[in-house]
Amino acid sequence: MNYELVLVRFGEIVIKGRNRNRFETMLLTQIRLALKPFDKLEFVRSYARVYIRLNGESYEPVAERLKDIFGVLSFSPVIGSELELEAIRENSLKLIRNLSVPPSTFKVSVNRGWKQYPHNSIEMNHLVGSHVLRNTPDLKVDVRRPDVELKVDIQKDMAYIYCEVVKGAGGFPLGMNGKAMLLLSGGIDSPVAGWMAMRKGLRVEAVHFHSYPFTSEQAKDKVVELARRLAYYGGKIRLHLVPFTEVQTKLANSGHDNLIITLMRRSMLRIAERLAEQNDALAIVTGDSLGQVASQTLGSMNVIGRVASLPLLRPLVMMDKQDIIGYAERIGTYETSILPYEDCCTLFVPKSPAINPNLNIVERAEAMMGGELDRLIDEAVQGTEVVVLKAGEEAEASAGEQRREDDWF
Ligand code: ATP
Ligand code: MG
Repeated sequence: MNYELVLVRFGEIVIKGRNRNRFETMLLTQIRLALKPFDKLEFVRSYARVYIRLNGESYEPVAERLKDIFGVLSFSPVIGSELELEAIRENSLKLIRNLSVPPSTFKVSVNRGWKQYPHNSIEMNHLVGSHVLRNTPDLKVDVRRPDVELKVDIQKDMAYIYCEVVKGAGGFPLGMNGKAMLLLSGGIDSPVAGWMAMRKGLRVEAVHFHSYPFTSEQAKDKVVELARRLAYYGGKIRLHLVPFTEVQTKLANSGHDNLIITLMRRSMLRIAERLAEQNDALAIVTGDSLGQVASQTLGSMNVIGRVASLPLLRPLVMMDKQDIIGYAERIGTYETSILPYEDCCTLFVPKSPAINPNLNIVERAEAMMGGELDRLIDEAVQGTEVVVLKAGEEAEASAGEQRREDDWF
């Protein structure tokens, strides 16, 4: 089927006023960037929607890419028709005949956006519907629950005919709601948390703590791979690789075996906040999910979270593991996440980690390490390397790389 147009509908319809305009402008920018490889496309904006003229590009690969653009509520492949009644009837029939799953029931809904059109919408429903019925054996009309709703939108320049509605990713255009640092481990959860944050319009920079040489080169490659996958959704992604060995060793020798994970997480947050400040990010995103492990009980989250002054965003906090895995599969991170390489935290897992750590004891333990811990944290921040990842490409090292808006895809 040769479609001429794709009709794209925008998400988050509750947004009003000036924000609405900003939403639409940013979304159109994101759509243009993501579809840049298809160079014949043209974009026409009209209120709360965009028409993409395919100009000979095939619909399917464009649709595959559109599905993953945040802010897109849904889209439809459209036939553009001349306004003569016969043309509209023929094109409607062609559309119904070419559906991949032939419907057994249908209805026609004509919208007469151009009021000078000689037939009103009720007449048009009959005129188009009867033609389709006459020429499609076994097809019946069902106005209540049709398999297919054939929509005809009559405008002054032409009629837009479509029936398929494909669900988009929803959410906000990337970057519309600011920037956050994503704590990216090699596990299943944090990449999903990152995707959710991006879907809410946050641009993310990833932060990974490694304990090289205790953790392997493969463990790092795995995180690079996960960040690269996120880059497919979020444009270029900067991944901060933090050398955590010294801090971790210091904490492991503090004599508080059962509090090691609590102490480690607090130091991670301190470092992440420093990186957030350096990179103008206003929140920290983690893959914590309530009750999943000792460090994610409410008691642990309380004691760990208190060290941070930026908002801690935990998109998965109320989700079941099965649902999280479902998302991981859908966004294409699951296979990488389940590769078996050691994470820095698994190296030091104590026999019985505290599930309800005591804030006073934790703060006292940190105070005992005093300046020494602060110094190691400073060093970890200073020793952090940044790699910039782009979907489908090798990592490039970056030293304070300048980023341009059109550099994202
Ligand atoms: P994940 O699947 O994301 O690793 P998890 O269930 O294994 O989560 P934890 O290992 O307890 O849970 O980690 C909780 C969260 O802390 C992670 O989702 C991630 O945001 C952050 N985190 C843990 N380890 C690291 C690390 N090495 N580098 C960066 N962030 C980390
Ligand atoms: Mg983990």
